[in-house]
Amino acid sequence: MASSVSAVKLVVDGKRMDGRSAEELRPLRIETGVLHEADGSSFVEWGGNKIICGVYGPRECIPRFEASPYRALVKCRYMMSPFASLDEHSRSGPSRRSTELSKVIREVFENLVLAEKFPNTQIDIYLDVLQADGGTRTASITAAAVALANAGIPMKDMVSAVAVGKADGQLMLDLGKEEDNFGQSDTPIAFSARNKDILLLQMDGLLTKEELMSVVDMAERASVKIHAMQADSLKRHYEEPGTKRFRM
Ligand code: ADP
Repeated sequence: MASSVSAVKLVVDGKRMDGRSAEELRPLRIETGVLHEADGSSFVEWGGNKIICGVYGPRECIPRFEASPYRALVKCRYMMSPFASLDEHSRSGPSRRSTELSKVIREVFENLVLAEKFPNTQIDIYLDVLQADGGTRTASITAAAVALANAGIPMKDMVSAVAVGKADGQLMLDLGKEEDNFGQSDTPIAFSARNKDILLLQMDGLLTKEELMSVVDMAERASVKIHAMQADSLKRHYEEPGTKRFRM
């Protein structure tokens, strides 16, 4: 959550705390098909974030009374591990935050998955944040898109997400944890790859209308790069099946 008062100096001589320029992504690594038992899976390492995603389904809807004869239910469970970060955040299990994040991530995929093709079923997306470093909801959306594609679940489009924020008066892409926690504003955004639909936009803090427009443009430019990495990860997985061992 962005705080309105910047207690920490986040930009010094035009450089961010980790030396990045304003429009530079943190190092991003995406692996596909990392779990044996899931129908689709992915691992995303993005800056200090480490997130693993397992997708199951379409499978029988449990409890059965929830099942829809018209479509598959998309379910999502985002969870932070107890060792995800070692700071003021003491609680990491189920919380209001994990409930909110599970909901907003689920809504992204409800708008993408061709759920009408699979009546009476459910599709489960499990996201475990092993290490958290700011931007876990956007990294989770990016990971889940790859895992769903790996599970062969038909979607209208792919999706990539990134947060853009403002700290020390400057707009900046892909906030790290301190920038997220102590910056002036934080706007996670998810773009679909082909249609450029905005599937998630949340905003903390304060921006002018002009700044918000620039934030959306920055996120759109970055989403093109992120999508290329997602596609590359999927391609690598299918080009080298079984030859590669996943390393964390
Ligand atoms: P996001 O991860 O999408 O940026 P927030 O803005 O809620 O979501 O959190 C910002 C960052 O603060 C997280 O990425 C994480 O590094 C840290 N954080 C927040 N809540 C927790 C928590 N309960 N346990 C561990 N770290 C947390």
